[in-house]
Amino acid sequence: MYIGLSGGIGSGKSTVAKILSELGAVVIDADAIAKEVLETGQVGYENVIHNFGDSVLDPTGNIDRKKLAELVFQDETKLAKLESIVHPAVVSRVTQIRESLPDSAIVVYDTPLLIEKGLQDQFDTVLIVLADLESRRERLLSRGLLLKDIDARIANQATDEQRKAVADVLIVNDGTMQELKENVTNVWQQLSA
Ligand code: ATP
Repeated sequence: MYIGLSGGIGSGKSTVAKILSELGAVVIDADAIAKEVLETGQVGYENVIHNFGDSVLDPTGNIDRKKLAELVFQDETKLAKLESIVHPAVVSRVTQIRESLPDSAIVVYDTPLLIEKGLQDQFDTVLIVLADLESRRERLLSRGLLLKDIDARIANQATDEQRKAVADVLIVNDGTMQELKENVTNVWQQLSA
């Protein structure tokens, strides 16, 4: 079974992924894979240097993700180029991981961009984590983010209405951590039944 997991910043998506992994799911973290494919020796590495030059490297020869982000930020052509390098590399790595797993595995693809990238049809089930705005702000503030940055990022992401429209299962994370665990455990029991 292939499950897509998403949610807005601060909703608790990563926490849900962790709980699902503890319950027995195989979680594939899309952000981690996107980083991995640009590591030295990986498929995206040479491609990035070929297209963006040595200036995106740090002194040890690794891709400096911050420099790369600055380079493509506000330049749509460069951003599209980078995506055309990273996207196929991620798809191929994810396919490789999935093929290495037994058919019985319950695989959760954890991605913040499920809706923005229109990935919903790839999955047997789409799981969306929602939380009210105040809880999200509070959680992210206590993680050290600034309110203006939190609100800017929320405004840039898909809306809760868009998330609800693609969700097969909603996990509402407005309560305590214990409530979230119970909620996710119930969902897991239904998915793995
Ligand atoms: P991001 O998009 O930034 O990765 P996220 O949606 O993955 O965010 P998490 O990292 O899971 O969110 O959660 C944000 C913070 O809120 C974390 O510090 C997490 O421990 C905390 N948190 C999540 N759910 C709850 C809850 N129900 N009660 C208290 N704290 C929570």
